[in-house]
Amino acid sequence: MRVVVDQDLCGTTGQCVLTLPGTFRQREPDGVAEVCVATVPRTLHAAVRLAASQCPVAAIRVIESDAGDDERAGADPAPCPAEAERHAAKDQRNPGGHDGTV
Ligand code: SF4
Repeated sequence: MRVVVDQDLCGTTGQCVLTLPGTFRQREPDGVAEVCVATVPRTLHAAVRLAASQCPVAAIRVIESDAGDDERAGADPAPCPAEAERHAAKDQRNPGGHDGTV
């Protein structure tokens, strides 16, 4: 599954960002929503559909795919802040990148 925001339609309410901060972010300085994942993990499909249904201006479009979650459509976008923080915390716990396995 992929998800896109029609940035001409977005009303900058921030609803989608509050619902899924690891999937959507608001760009500076205008607050228009952006998607920050290339594909939506299967565990978030229902939440993304809900966010799309709750967008007050129907600016969020869900693109269902039979190709699975590994389908890529271009380069990865920059991670959302919530996603970046998760990666930073993981790097701090494991600064050398070694996972302790032999
Ligand atoms: S919920 Fe809709 S209008 Fe509000 S920020 Fe997200 S895309 Fe824009």
